[in-house]
Amino acid sequence: MLYICATPIGNLQDISLRALQVLQQSEVILCENTRNSRYLLEQHNVKVKKLVAFHQHNEAVITEKVIQWLQDGLTVTQISDAGTPGISDPGGRLCSKILELGLPLSPIPGACAYISLVSVSGLTIPHMFYGFLPAKTTHRCKILNQWHDISCAVCIYEAPHRIVECLTDIVKCLGDNRPVILGRELTKQFETIVKTTADELLKFILSDSNQQRGEFVLIIEPVHEDIVVGDDGISSSSLAKPQLSSEQINTLNLLLPELPPKKAVTLTHKITGADKNLLYNYAVQNK
Ligand code: SAM
Repeated sequence: MLYICATPIGNLQDISLRALQVLQQSEVILCENTRNSRYLLEQHNVKVKKLVAFHQHNEAVITEKVIQWLQDGLTVTQISDAGTPGISDPGGRLCSKILELGLPLSPIPGACAYISLVSVSGLTIPHMFYGFLPAKTTHRCKILNQWHDISCAVCIYEAPHRIVECLTDIVKCLGDNRPVILGRELTKQFETIVKTTADELLKFILSDSNQQRGEFVLIIEPVHEDIVVGDDGISSSSLAKPQLSSEQINTLNLLLPELPPKKAVTLTHKITGADKNLLYNYAVQNK
C-alpha cells in the first residue's frame, strides 16, 4: 500500500493516531526534506526504517522505485514538509502513476493550511482552492482579474517575501473594499486571523513588520451583496458590479486626452491590469 499522509502545519501535536501507526509500520517513508521529517518523526518516537527524499527534481526516478517497492509488497508512506501532500506540494504525479497502474493507495487525512482557515472563516458559501499565485505582477493580475465577479471564495497561499506585493495587486485588481480573510502562522505561537477588506489588510500588514513574517493563507471573498445558501446547500448570489480602482481610473484619465480610446484602454490595461471591458465602458462614457 502507498499511504499519502498529512503531517502538522505548525503545532507538532496535530498528527493523527492513524498517521503515527502507519508511519511506524512503513518500510519506506518518502519526504521532501529528510532533516525536517526526521525531527518530526523523532518527536513522535517513530522508528524509521528507510527515509527517502522525494521532491519535484527526483519525482520521476523515485516514482519508478515506489512502483517496484509496492510490487514487492512493501508499505510506502509519503509525507511533505507540512500539511497534506499534493496540496501545493509534491505527490500529484506519483498518485497519478499509481492510479494508472491500478496499484493500491490510500490517504491518511489531517492538517491542511487552507482548510484550517476555511474552518474558522465563517464562510457559508462554496470556496475553491487556487494555491500560489504567479510571482510576477503582470501574471498575477491576469489571474486576479478573472475573479472580479466570481461567485465563490478563493483560497490562496502566499510567501512572506511576496505578501505585500500580492495584497497590493489584490487592491489594484479587485478594489479597496474586496472582503478578505487572512490566516497567518496558523496553529503556531503568533497565529493571526483577520477578516477585513483588502485595503485595510494591506495597511495592517504594512504598519507592523512582524505581520509580514511567517506563512500566509488568504481567502478572497466574492463581492457579494446577498449570497443566499438555500436548504439544499446551493448558493445563489446577486453580485455587486466589479469596479475600477481610483488608480486605474486616474491612469486612464491621464491617457484619454492624449490617445485614441482603444490605445488608452490597452495601455491602461497593461499598466494596471484592469479589466478591459470596464476600461472601455469608462472610456466611452468619459472621452
Ligand atoms: N501541503 C500544505 C497544506 O496542506 O496546506 C501546503 C504546502 S505549501 C508548499 C506551503 C504554504 O502553505 C505556505 O507558503 C503558506 O502559504 C501555507 N501554510 C503552510 N503552513 C501554514 C500555516 N501554519 N499558517 C498559514 N499558512 C500556512
